[in-house]
Amino acid sequence: MVLGAGIAGLCTALALAPTGRRINLLERDLAPPDGVEATFDHWSRRGASQLRHSHAFLARLRQLIATEHPALLEALEAAGARELRFADGLPEPIKKTYVAAPQDAEMSILVSRRSTLEFIIRRYVEAHANVAIRSGAFVTGLISERDATGTLVARGLTLEGGETVLADLVIDAGGRASPMTDWLAEAGAKITEEGEDCAILYYTRFYALKPGQSEPARGAASTTGDLGYLKFGIFPADNDTFSFTLAVPEVEEALRAAVMRPDIFDAICGRLPGVAPWTDPERSTPVSKVYAMGDLKSRWREMAPAGQPAMLNLFCVGDSLVRTNPLYGRGCSFAAIEAHGLRDVLTGTGDPANRTRAYSARVRTDLFAFYADMVEQDRGAARRALAGLDPDHRASWRGRLLRRFLEDGVAIAVRQDADLLRGAMRAFHMLDSPRGWLRRPASLARILAVWARGRRANAHLYAPKSGPDRPAMFAALGLDAAADLARVRAAA
Ligand SMILES: Cc1cc2nc3c(=O)[nH]c(=O)nc-3n(C[C@H](O)[C@H](O)[C@H](O)COP(=O)(O)OP(=O)(O)OC[C@H]3O[C@@H](n4cnc5c(N)ncnc54)[C@H](O)[C@@H]3O)c2cc1C
Repeated sequence: MVLGAGIAGLCTALALAPTGRRINLLERDLAPPDGVEATFDHWSRRGASQLRHSHAFLARLRQLIATEHPALLEALEAAGARELRFADGLPEPIKKTYVAAPQDAEMSILVSRRSTLEFIIRRYVEAHANVAIRSGAFVTGLISERDATGTLVARGLTLEGGETVLADLVIDAGGRASPMTDWLAEAGAKITEEGEDCAILYYTRFYALKPGQSEPARGAASTTGDLGYLKFGIFPADNDTFSFTLAVPEVEEALRAAVMRPDIFDAICGRLPGVAPWTDPERSTPVSKVYAMGDLKSRWREMAPAGQPAMLNLFCVGDSLVRTNPLYGRGCSFAAIEAHGLRDVLTGTGDPANRTRAYSARVRTDLFAFYADMVEQDRGAARRALAGLDPDHRASWRGRLLRRFLEDGVAIAVRQDADLLRGAMRAFHMLDSPRGWLRRPASLARILAVWARGRRANAHLYAPKSGPDRPAMFAALGLDAAADLARVRAAA
């Protein structure tokens, strides 16, 4: 019995269906209408409000689907989902000398509206005779009892209206707001969790290309960027659509309030050289409002603290187990990796306590390094955003050196060296460990050699500016660049 038919619930069904189990998904929201356009336009998704935010499936997830569920990949592509290959995103200096390597084929990312991805995966999963999705089924409670040894064991779920459904295994795929932890606490089960704010807010708007128009050529100006006070990205999607997402640091209150206004949103697009050609009214039309999303958190839950299962026969998959910052595009990959890990654990051992411990260990081995690296990067980004409010801020000597190393060493080296870029991208796509490529002595030597040449000699390798600095953008938008600093100082 699976609580939730979002990405994690669907991935759980995808992974477990071939094992022959009977899998029932209970989903609070109603089923999508028929077809990808109707689904984008009309599917009410109160349980997964990120449905109308930009989504992409990282290479690790695309690889998993290609290897384990090739017919699903075909179905997604037939519905309009597209692969962006490693070769499609090469920086200008590498393009001239690039020779494809066999492993580059692994680094394709799958892009599409999330509504299309979810609609197709759902239809694919539902075609299995042993999978049933019950829509409009609001789960209100967990049924559990203590066995003869006093250990808590999950027995089933309760639905709104009082109906109970019993199951051999209960899987919580209820997403970031899953009520499962409250029910566990009520039952006396002890889990642990760590987490922190992502310290950003997310804003997305969808666009459709006008008839006869095509996507702008990938030029020198970048369609993604990090300006400190703003991160942004164009997400190409299915069926002549794309979206544009802005991530604004929490401390940028004036910008956060303004960005919801379509005129400000458009004005920002117009001032980003890599974005303006996409959102140019001659080329595309907005097909949605600006969607905003806050309360973004990273969170890691441990269901068997110190090796002691909180409850037997209960497993959490997806955001209810681990939440990640959407900026990294990892949430769906995490959910799918967990679901397939769970399948292996359930197949590998029948002992309930060993299953819980093995699943917990498997998730930690597969994913914790990516989670920890993300949290560390987010802390740095939040510090930089705060410092960016103050035009007189001077970073420490160590901070300045690290920044120079990253901006004039690492960032420049990966723009001219295909092997280094491969290392960085494999880490980004979760195909290799997050920092392994950077720690390799050979990589470090190549980066240091580039850095040592100095800015003047490397001038041709720097990327063109992806957008204006904070004072210039605020002036263009008519916003007070000093207000947030005054507020932060007053609060301090
Ligand atoms: C703004 C944003 C952008 C993102 N972009 C990306 C991206 O580009 N790539 C990526 O990989 N990840 C991305 N993510 C993360 C991704 O959306 C999540 O990690 C993923 O959806 C997790 O799947 P899930 O099934 O755990 O949760 P959800 O997909 O949220 O699904 C949870 C489901 O449980 C149901 N449910 C909840 N409570 C109940 C109940 N009591 N009874 C019945 N049903 C219930 C809900 O209705 C819902 O269908 C993004 C997230 C956000 C917020």
